[in-house]
Amino acid sequence: MGTRAPVVDHGPRTGARVALTFDADMTDGMLASLRAGRVKSYANLRILDLLEREQVPATFFLTGKWVRRYPDVTRRIAANPRFELANHTYGHAAFTAGCYDLPRLPVDELARDVAKTFEVIAPYGGRQTRYFRFPGLCHDAAALDALAPLGVTVVDGDVVSGDPFATAWKPLVRAVLDHVRPGSVVIMHVTEANAAMTDEALPHILAGLRERGLAPAPLSEVLAGG
Ligand SMILES: [Zn+2]
Repeated sequence: MGTRAPVVDHGPRTGARVALTFDADMTDGMLASLRAGRVKSYANLRILDLLEREQVPATFFLTGKWVRRYPDVTRRIAANPRFELANHTYGHAAFTAGCYDLPRLPVDELARDVAKTFEVIAPYGGRQTRYFRFPGLCHDAAALDALAPLGVTVVDGDVVSGDPFATAWKPLVRAVLDHVRPGSVVIMHVTEANAAMTDEALPHILAGLRERGLAPAPLSEVLAGG
């Protein structure tokens, strides 16, 4: 006890707040696709445009490699007082065995990977947090033990939009609105080429939240409750 990083799925089920979270994955394979011109962008600026225009709070789980590839977009996120910055590993490797098809990091490198990612994100300032999300949400006792010294809170989420590699926006809207409740943490991606429907779904998700009397808030406020 006390030697394992805590894991949360959602905040208290009271009040009316929900957290919209956007993961910014980046792997060496994705960087190679960008360099080869196979994809245009892994930074969906239409999501940022919409959140800024509608003044919607959100939390971004950033990989170190994404931040290094998109420093201007990271600055834009950090400059928004409604946005929080969180950690999604350095290069989106798996922290456990059998995590989709992600290559695995050895257990003795996990803490260093996450610490290095904080070092990359921290200089951007803004609303920095100690929230951390595992690639593919894959974690086990060894991974949680390894991260305990960093003082992170592991945030999984209770509403999975299913936006990676989606080919239509309506199923995302349904997936979110069918499951969202007060205190929910909604998982989406800001990676455009790997999540091409998210910006089309987002206006409908925001409208559906309003209809349900739910209001997006920064993750820290949702987890604190109220
Ligand atoms: Zn991810």
